[in-house]
Amino acid sequence: MPTVPEAARPVDLSVLVPVYNEEGNVRALHAEAVPVLDRLRLAWEMIFVDDGSTDGTHAALAEIRREDARVRVVRLRRNFGQTTALAAGFDYARGDRVVTLDGDLQNDPRDIPLLLEKMDEGYEVVSGWRRDRKEPFLTRRLPSVAANRLIAFLSGVPIHDFGCTLKAYDRSVFERLPLYAETHRFLPALASLTGARTTEAVVRHHPRRFGRSKYGLSRVGKVLVDLLALQMILHFSTRPRRWFGALALPFALSGAACGAWAAAAYFSRPEGPPMIVLPGATFLLFFLSFFLLSLGWFAELVAATGVREKRLARVLGGPGR
Ligand code: UDP
Ligand code: MG
Repeated sequence: MPTVPEAARPVDLSVLVPVYNEEGNVRALHAEAVPVLDRLRLAWEMIFVDDGSTDGTHAALAEIRREDARVRVVRLRRNFGQTTALAAGFDYARGDRVVTLDGDLQNDPRDIPLLLEKMDEGYEVVSGWRRDRKEPFLTRRLPSVAANRLIAFLSGVPIHDFGCTLKAYDRSVFERLPLYAETHRFLPALASLTGARTTEAVVRHHPRRFGRSKYGLSRVGKVLVDLLALQMILHFSTRPRRWFGALALPFALSGAACGAWAAAAYFSRPEGPPMIVLPGATFLLFFLSFFLLSLGWFAELVAATGVREKRLARVLGGPGR
């Protein structure tokens, strides 16, 4: 019987792990995950995305890969950050479902079946909730609670822990996620843009045993900046004309007021000195509102082109991002 080439075999589940300098963890993670995944009785693959590690991570992954053909390794040329690592992994994932997981053993592979059970109930995104986080309160848990509340409020997705990497996605969702910069923290919020049915499940969390965290307090600032970007993506990307229209309105109204003032001044004293300021201001204000409106139309055109290209990519079988 001819053997089916590895790449052509259907895969039910892809487990996706971004790793950056985790040489002390990858082997143990693989060893912990395999029995859990085998018990699921599905065709699975485990994708490690090596995000430009400079320690022995890549050698360790190559060794795991040699021993287990279900493991695939994607190596990025330099350290691009967790979001890009995840995006690369999603591009390579062949499964109908993808579970993402930290590579440092802080997430527990034993929670994977739990997330999949939730998906069986009809959810397309299941987000892990580290209710009992094993991290310092002031530098980690407090900023995280504040950020999570804010993201939940802005996005209208009522979950507690956006930052947990342990999540499960249906293919129909992750193929459409706009992933760039550091948007991985907002994935459930972004998934809500695609209309995904989203829920959460309480998962275990362990302190880091090997290696160091890649983030410090500077993350707080980045999250705040990204929140603004999220706000734009969520509410602006589909309807830019409205935003620019709203911006243009006060200028148009003050232009009209200036114009009326100028006309009133002229008709009350037609023989007075020639007016410069009021007609000038009227012209500038109208011009500004017209400029903003045109920008809105232009942005709408760009957004529409993006949507059309995404559709086209899907029809042609491209990655659809
Ligand atoms: N990570 C990555 N690229 C980076 C930073 C982190 O792939 O630039 C990986 C890291 O190896 C780990 C996961 O993302 O598997 C989460 O990182 P970390 O544990 O440092 O974050 P924390 O748990 O402290 O929030
Ligand atoms: Mg960690």
